[in-house]
Amino acid sequence: MFKGFTRFLQSPGERLKSFFGPDSAAASLSEPRIIPRQEHPVSRQHFSDAALKVLYRLHNAGYQAYLVGGCIRDSLLGRMPKDFDVATDATPEEVKTLFRNSRIIGRRFRIVHVRFGREVIEVTTFRGKPGDDHGDQIAQQSDEGLLLRDNVWGNIQEDAIRRDFTINALYYSIADFSIHDFANGISDIEARTLRLIGDPATRYREDPVRMLRAVRFAGKLDFHLDPATEAPIRELAPLLMQIPPARLFDEILKLFMGGHGVETFRLLRQYGLFEMLFPEAAEAMDELPWAEPLVEAALASTDRRIAEERPVTPAFLFAALLWGPVQLRQAAHEHGGMPPIPALQAASQQVISRQLQHISIPKRFSLPMRDIWDLQQRLPMRRGRRVFQTREHPRFRAAYDLLLLREAAGELEPGLGDWWTAFQHADEHEQRRLLDKVGANPAGSGAPRKRRRRRRKPRGDNGDA
Ligand code: ATP
Ligand code: MG
Repeated sequence: MFKGFTRFLQSPGERLKSFFGPDSAAASLSEPRIIPRQEHPVSRQHFSDAALKVLYRLHNAGYQAYLVGGCIRDSLLGRMPKDFDVATDATPEEVKTLFRNSRIIGRRFRIVHVRFGREVIEVTTFRGKPGDDHGDQIAQQSDEGLLLRDNVWGNIQEDAIRRDFTINALYYSIADFSIHDFANGISDIEARTLRLIGDPATRYREDPVRMLRAVRFAGKLDFHLDPATEAPIRELAPLLMQIPPARLFDEILKLFMGGHGVETFRLLRQYGLFEMLFPEAAEAMDELPWAEPLVEAALASTDRRIAEERPVTPAFLFAALLWGPVQLRQAAHEHGGMPPIPALQAASQQVISRQLQHISIPKRFSLPMRDIWDLQQRLPMRRGRRVFQTREHPRFRAAYDLLLLREAAGELEPGLGDWWTAFQHADEHEQRRLLDKVGANPAGSGAPRKRRRRRRKPRGDNGDA
């Protein structure tokens, strides 16, 4: 790492945990460890002009202004931060009057978005103790401890202990460029440890999404979870079902489209979180030997594309994630006598509506996802004009990519994918030759590799769609 850093390491006895009781919200407050500019490597060059503009305008108006969260954590880890979170003692209304290009958003957690072209800087007001409610500042908790609203303002110390992980509670001051460490985040960065601030079970109950964030940061940063932070996750995983589907959709995108999807997926499986998010996909993975390899292959391809800065679409990823359950339901419908095309349509409809109870998938992704599924039935039909219609379909490319993954995962005998690869690159003469070849062997490939393993009775149309 860098010089002068290790001196901030503390003995385990001094750790934050020791002076935080199990009721984290009421935890006593610590003085920060202040690391002056010359003793840390974070410089203004790491930050965008927009972030600096926001900090300086708040500062010049007499407010406190800090960069906090991922941007400081990532800078300390030698990564270029992508987005910037500002913490201040100015209220959202006060922030709004300072920036014409700003908007107050959120109800559960009110913050201000300050926009500069395509860049958005998130400005949050220091949160205080939920017990100190007054006026329109409210914090509400459900009987189970779920934090329904968190809009009580406080000071920076109170704000720090309401953040999730120690490594996310590092504040960079624009007044003197020092870093304020309230929770031993720096030593946890050095030890590559993810540690929740306060009592882990309480903090997960307050906001179960923190379980997903733990896994996301572990996957992205290659950190390990501190044993106490790790321990309650399996048991508390079902709390994710309390989270609104729209919020989960945003989290899913961050989990799977952050460039470390494969590792993140394995951790979600390991901690029993995946089945809370995609229950039917998890069931299919128990029944179909190719279902999990298919999802891993789709995530690996997404990770590769992100590394190469090529575009990725959630529609493709969701198509692969839910293809297992679609196949199980389609088989059940066909078993009941329905022809393949309506069977696929009914299955798609049911899988989507069941999934929407957990995670909202906007239409702009679910419609192309259905096209990608429909095309799986059209790709083997390689006679006459149909081939050209399929080739020209706007989702052809994604459907072909899914076909290749299905072959690689062992769902299908290989062959059809190669045929389409050749067809796409062929001139007119060669295309005719390829079509004649299909004519000679119309069954072709694209056939299921083996009979599906089935450990239980086929699922009928049980009306949960
Ligand atoms: P990245 O932006 O790289 O995903 P981040 O840590 O900046 O990571 P954000 O979602 O941008 O994550 O949140 C900014 C900061 O707000 C976090 O670093 C953390 O301090 C705090 N925070 C975010 N979500 C929560 C939460 N659910 N509970 C407590 N604190 C949170
Ligand atoms: Mg951030």
